[in-house]
Amino acid sequence: MMERTFAVRVRDGLHARPATQFVKLAKSFASEITITCNGQAASAKSAVKLMLLGIKEDDEATLRVEGEDAPDALSALSTFLQNPAAGDIALPKTGGAANASAAKAGPEDDGSHGIAGIAASEGTGYGPSFAFFPPVLKIEPQAVSDAEAEISRYRDAVSGVTTAFARNKERAGTESDTNAIIDALIDVAQDTEFADEIEAAIRGGQDAASATMSVGTRLTESFEAMDDPYIRARGEDMRSVTRQIVLALIGQADVSLADVESGSVIVADEITAWDLARANMADIAGIVCRKGAATSHVAIMARAHGIPAVLGASISAERLAGSKTVGLDGAAGQVFIDPDAATRARLNDAIAREAAEKKALEAYRTVEPVTSAGIRVEVAANLGSLAEIPAALEAGAMGVGLFRTEFLFMERKTLPTEDEQAEVYTRLAEAFAPYPVVIRTLDIGGDKPITGVDFEHEDNPFLGWRGIRMCLERPDIFKPQLRALLRASVVGNVKVLIPMIADGSEVREVRRLFEECRDELRPEGTAFGTFELGVMIETPAAVFLAAELAQQVDFFSIGTNDLTQYVMAADRLNPKVASLNRAEHPAVLRAISATCKAAKAANIWIGVCGEAAARQDLTGFFIENGVTELSMSSTSIPRTKQAITRF
Ligand code: PEP
Ligand code: MG
Repeated sequence: MMERTFAVRVRDGLHARPATQFVKLAKSFASEITITCNGQAASAKSAVKLMLLGIKEDDEATLRVEGEDAPDALSALSTFLQNPAAGDIALPKTGGAANASAAKAGPEDDGSHGIAGIAASEGTGYGPSFAFFPPVLKIEPQAVSDAEAEISRYRDAVSGVTTAFARNKERAGTESDTNAIIDALIDVAQDTEFADEIEAAIRGGQDAASATMSVGTRLTESFEAMDDPYIRARGEDMRSVTRQIVLALIGQADVSLADVESGSVIVADEITAWDLARANMADIAGIVCRKGAATSHVAIMARAHGIPAVLGASISAERLAGSKTVGLDGAAGQVFIDPDAATRARLNDAIAREAAEKKALEAYRTVEPVTSAGIRVEVAANLGSLAEIPAALEAGAMGVGLFRTEFLFMERKTLPTEDEQAEVYTRLAEAFAPYPVVIRTLDIGGDKPITGVDFEHEDNPFLGWRGIRMCLERPDIFKPQLRALLRASVVGNVKVLIPMIADGSEVREVRRLFEECRDELRPEGTAFGTFELGVMIETPAAVFLAAELAQQVDFFSIGTNDLTQYVMAADRLNPKVASLNRAEHPAVLRAISATCKAAKAANIWIGVCGEAAARQDLTGFFIENGVTELSMSSTSIPRTKQAITRF
């Protein structure tokens, strides 16, 4: 048996998404794996039990692994748990949503005052109410003569429910938030410990429906008693899965949101992700629920589809169910039941204004923005995987300004091969051609470790063996990537970006390795192309050396995330120094200006690919300094294009 104890670094702890991914990784090993935290143990292969451990960021956890592949399993799972970005989840954008309180509440019976709830998804909605109050299931215990037959009935019901879930996943297509949520439901339905408990109860004499209901209700209540809002919100998954399995067992169909009339506001006690996945999202004008939180799946889905939503509204079920029309302000977390004429007019004005804004932004999809002074700026996407391509194209990305290749290497048991990488880079380049795609070589270490590379403990990992420093010492890992990049360059629009440059010798070494790779590819008869080579400007050293570096490369890309933390000496992950970690700090802005000046003098182009690229308060500053490419997450693209054309 192997064992390791360490601090969990997954940002926000092991809530639904990282827990699901962690369980998936655990299940890829044959070993028995137990994780212990806060004095409680659970199988690492049970998402339900794992989430109920309530593992938080910085908690100490112990992994115990027994089996043939124990060393690999221990290494992969501990790497996962020590990676802050292991399960990044779309966090609510609405500020202070989780603690929206009765402070804003107005009198309940006046349609002109808002009733307070949680601001779960921004936007204004108004329409006829569609009351969704599925009846409470009443299960009469049945006598069971053949426990094994009853277990097989239970298993059939689970498989029917998971098939139905999967069908809805197909319907959701590439909408990745919805897919991840449906995956989480499937995981709960197939959870081995959930099934074991139910089957044990059936063997103890209960019928399948009663056993499912009692085990499911108990687990739901356990989730709802957790401190962590993310994990508490997973009670809704448990309740939803339990209900679907019980309905399948008693042969009843559920009431469904599939019949929502177009333009209605759904009012409910609670809507689960499963209920919403079956609705036609385009028909829904708004969602108001008495339960739920900003971290509920229903909130994430509403945000993904741009449906205004207020959850946790302090209104009685009778009042909601009896309403004829409902209005809501999803950003303020306010609900208006049967609003009076003045409130209706206000809501309708807001809806019209928002629709016009949305339409205006949609128009930017095909726009190649030019400032009033005639400067063309490329607005590109930051991507980490091919799955994100459709959303980037939909948003109107003019290519990719940063493809973070480390995500290909993270959360895997083995390193990706040269062929696998060549295929990914080629498909990426083809998807955006003729726009350029800037592919960054592996930038791991710091906050992004990977399986397959032993990272020794470092007291200051952000000042340590990361990015190009690690790659130059590991040609066995680096050269397959360089060869893959050379091969993908045949498409014609690939540009290669080197991270964490602090010295000109690093660029020379990369060029030498590329030359070595070409010398290997030629005799093999493997085709390869040419590309522009650029460096990330994210260390103060690179800023001070910008004039020299500009002579060595074809372009610069400013990584404001790291540049800010290194210029300000303020860790980008430490909230205690967040007030110093500001890209708009004069010290950072001067570093950016100095870099731009050096690029201009050497006549090379310069882009920005850190988070600050999407900041509209900085758009003008970047353009004035000569930046011609801004790269950001896809959702920010239309607004940035608009800001450029208005500059
Ligand atoms: C940056 O540092 O600004 C950057 C874009 O790189 P990363 O966030 O991946 O470190
Ligand atoms: Mg960086």
